[in-house]
Amino acid sequence: MSEPTRFEPPISAVSEPYWEATRERRLVLQHCDSCERTVWYPRVLCPHCGGTDLTWSDACGHGAVYAVSVQYRPGHPALADRVPYAVALVDLDDGVRVMTSVVGCAAEDVHIGQRVRPTWEELSDGRNLLMHEPEA
Ligand SMILES: [Zn+2]
Repeated sequence: MSEPTRFEPPISAVSEPYWEATRERRLVLQHCDSCERTVWYPRVLCPHCGGTDLTWSDACGHGAVYAVSVQYRPGHPALADRVPYAVALVDLDDGVRVMTSVVGCAAEDVHIGQRVRPTWEELSDGRNLLMHEPEA
């Protein structure tokens, strides 16, 4: 354990498999066995059909920026030394839209349609936070 340098999301019973996979920097998403759709964020019920047969599977995590907002004021005091930073909605090739940070380039250079790939930031308890960076 080390001191957190940012807000760290809590773990819930339903999200625990997701967070455990991030310890190995693996992205897993829920898949509904009833309607065959991918589900994000972790839930008990499928938001598409109400089914309860949700199973976890590995995801690729690559995707395209759907929308981006450059933050000049930190959203949390611990992020003060990171501004400006880019918060984006990314449409993953896996079929879901996630909110993420795009790092590895100037925040102002992140643009709609940009291809991005997953990268991870280590949290204080060994979990990793999903982020994205431009595809090479
Ligand atoms: Zn379903």
